[in-house]
Amino acid sequence: MADTEQQGSGLALTGLTQQEAEAARRTYGWNELPRAKRAGPLRVFLRQFSNFLVVILIVAGIIAFTLGEYADTLAIGLVIALNGVLGFVQEWRAETALESLRSMLSPQALVLRDGRERLIAARELVPGDLVILEAGARIPADAIVQEAAGLRVDESALTGESVPIDKAPGAEAAEVHAGTVVAAGRALAEVTATGAQTSFGKIASLTGSVGLKKTNLQVQLGRLARQLGFAALAIASAILALGLYMGRDVAEMFMTGLSLSVAMVPEGLPAVVTITLALGAAAMVRQQALARRLQAVETLGAASVICTDKTGTLTENKMTVTQVWTLDRVYQVTGTGYDPAGHIAYDGAVTGAKEDAVLAAILEAGLTCTHASLHREGDHWEMTGAPTEGALVTLGYKGWADLPPPDSVLAEIPFSSERKRMSVLVRSRSGGAKVLTKGAPEQVLRICSQVMTQDGPRSLGAGEAAAITAAYEAMAGEGLRVIGLAAGAARGEVIAEEDLTFLGLAGLIDPPRPEVRPAIDAARSAGIRVIMITGDSPLTAQAIAGQLGLPPARTVTGDELEALEDAGLSQLLQGEVLFARTRPAHKMRIVSALQAQHQIVAMTGDGVNDAPALKKADIGVSMGVRGTDVAKDASDLVLLDDNFATIVRAIGEGRRQFGNVRKFVRYLLSSNAGEVIALLINILIGGPLIFLATQILWMNLVTDGVTAVALGLEKGEPDQMEHPPRRKDTPIVGKAGLLTILALGLYTGLASLWLFLHLLDGNEDLARTAAFTAMVIFEKASVFAFRSLHLPCWRIGFFTNPFLLAALTVTIGAQVAAVYWPPLQALLHTVPLQGDQWMLIGLLVLPILLVPEILKTLRYFASRRQGGRAVAQA
Ligand code: ATP
Repeated sequence: MADTEQQGSGLALTGLTQQEAEAARRTYGWNELPRAKRAGPLRVFLRQFSNFLVVILIVAGIIAFTLGEYADTLAIGLVIALNGVLGFVQEWRAETALESLRSMLSPQALVLRDGRERLIAARELVPGDLVILEAGARIPADAIVQEAAGLRVDESALTGESVPIDKAPGAEAAEVHAGTVVAAGRALAEVTATGAQTSFGKIASLTGSVGLKKTNLQVQLGRLARQLGFAALAIASAILALGLYMGRDVAEMFMTGLSLSVAMVPEGLPAVVTITLALGAAAMVRQQALARRLQAVETLGAASVICTDKTGTLTENKMTVTQVWTLDRVYQVTGTGYDPAGHIAYDGAVTGAKEDAVLAAILEAGLTCTHASLHREGDHWEMTGAPTEGALVTLGYKGWADLPPPDSVLAEIPFSSERKRMSVLVRSRSGGAKVLTKGAPEQVLRICSQVMTQDGPRSLGAGEAAAITAAYEAMAGEGLRVIGLAAGAARGEVIAEEDLTFLGLAGLIDPPRPEVRPAIDAARSAGIRVIMITGDSPLTAQAIAGQLGLPPARTVTGDELEALEDAGLSQLLQGEVLFARTRPAHKMRIVSALQAQHQIVAMTGDGVNDAPALKKADIGVSMGVRGTDVAKDASDLVLLDDNFATIVRAIGEGRRQFGNVRKFVRYLLSSNAGEVIALLINILIGGPLIFLATQILWMNLVTDGVTAVALGLEKGEPDQMEHPPRRKDTPIVGKAGLLTILALGLYTGLASLWLFLHLLDGNEDLARTAAFTAMVIFEKASVFAFRSLHLPCWRIGFFTNPFLLAALTVTIGAQVAAVYWPPLQALLHTVPLQGDQWMLIGLLVLPILLVPEILKTLRYFASRRQGGRAVAQA
């Protein structure tokens, strides 16, 4: 155990003053590295012209030019340019949104300044600063260890060596480097180099960058677009060959082939998906959830189980001691939070350290065996440190106990979630040294052989142990977090965690967060299970679960879990279950077992040892406030407010976004289907070209792209959290989707073809303009069918998506301009339409507006009658 004890230089360390730090900063600069350059606007703009489709268009433009079709060349050129500009604007917005997410992950550091601990941005560190390093922290600068307790540093990022290295003051092992990670223990270290001067100049790329890796959805859609592209090329070449064989005009056939390929490829798709996910991620941040990978946004919508810890996520993590129990006295404590304004009372009378020696010993342990401290800031009190410890320090103030001198602690065995207790060796006032311990009561009790009473210590027999356990259970049963405290004489200079005297129990309240109960209800009605996995005691966990409205569950402790076979665990996880007194390693087993049942698991974690489970989970969730750097780095989602309710909101957001992607993919495909059907049938019956290539480009890129982006901004559907999570492999289109696409495509294709043939007698340009305009209007009208895949528009509200209404106004306006404005007329080969052609278009559009609406309404009422919910099975 000696290796986990504190070693120190014995200096009284106060750190720099704020003025000294500022002076040093002027000399050495900020503790940051020159940022990796993000792609500049020109790069992003040029990137728009590198895709396959644009290359085809450029080739087409060149051919059109050589054939002498100058208007077409210009139109194609303009469409390429417009597409480039639209793509640029979207991608730039996405980039900027992601960039601001990245900057939100900037690291922090705990330093000693002006003699007290402060949490500052890591970039403000200067050489000479004293930093406090805790387990799970990424070391913010190069430094020399001055004091350490069980410090072990994972230097794999620097050296590739995966076994953590012990570090201690003095000698070579005292150096720690920026970018490496504290695997265990705690230390005070003096910064020697910052920013670019550190031996490891890569902080920027390591501090939790937001992943730009493509998401499944993007990959899946990219593949779809490519397949459609190749199919289009093949069909277009076949048609070109056929036309040539039949002796038709080369230029006309070439343009037909080109139009067809353009019509088949949903050009806008990849851009729309990226922008939807990136804007979605930005929307989630406003809800306090920071997606570190776009993938998370997508997977969240499919989450079926949330494994959550208790302290700080379900509860406030604002602890207050309300009760102190000793073998012969029970004390009540008043006051709230970390304000020492309350008092300790025994039997109705105020008491304190001066009046009661047993109480004094308890208060001393709480004040000394700790890293927390209280400071007065103006008219209120601030606490630095862990809330559990802060509560015990506050208790010491309330009981008027003497504060320990600053250098009284000689050595320490730090707290860890594995050991669940902490011990220190202190110089006692009488001259000798003593050990003070606090921790989970059963972990403290097992190292005690005596118990303290008002009449002095007495041997800890079965009766005493039973009394302590009964008191512990009674407090835990009320939902209190219970900490046991003990003390003992030291043997030499090492901490012997044995033969101690049990002093008493402190009961801490940590109230549930008020917003959690409704969030749990929402999760449950959305078919998502909530499993609590906590390090706290079973009774406390059960009591809090009850207060939060979680269903009665079988409680399994970490030890019981270890004794279980995989099959047993799997069986257990079929029912309601709650895990208590777990160690971080247990989370990994629980995630694996759930995943084996094909669940999509969101798992929370904040400590250094939670990282493997966070990585393994489908969605690793870390805590923005309380979480360690290591946990944040391993996670997909960071809760900026550490709040369980935020996870549920983020799941809602994920569902909304996946739903919206499905909507606009289907929308874009149904529009393309209409164009392809009209073109194909028309070629087969030998008619003149129904749409010109430039007109198709106009429809697909100019009018549909804008509408699809607006569809991606559709609000969440009112019942989105009322049906079970989707399966992970749910296709974006699916059978019902395909049917809708075909049905709409057939109608719009045939209707525009009919209009074209109907008007063809008089004037080919007029007929084409009417068919082209009809197709655009049909496509705009069909968007209403996709606003929800199962709810009628009157149920989701006609005006709930103002972006869509704006997009429709703009694109229909653009189409009117295309028909009446001479420059666009010249480019798109259109002629003005008359009133009766508009009338015809108006009549033909009615079924598109009415039929889907009527069908959905019928289905809505039918499912309501069955008492079920209209679930999008498509
Ligand atoms: P959760 O896992 O829900 O966050 P937790 O905070 O109780 O719950 P751990 O941090 O693993 O989980 O703590 C386990 C137990 O260790 C606590 O229930 C408490 O009894 C004890 N404990 C917590 N913090 C300290 C500390 N600073 N010093 C000594 N013992 C502690």
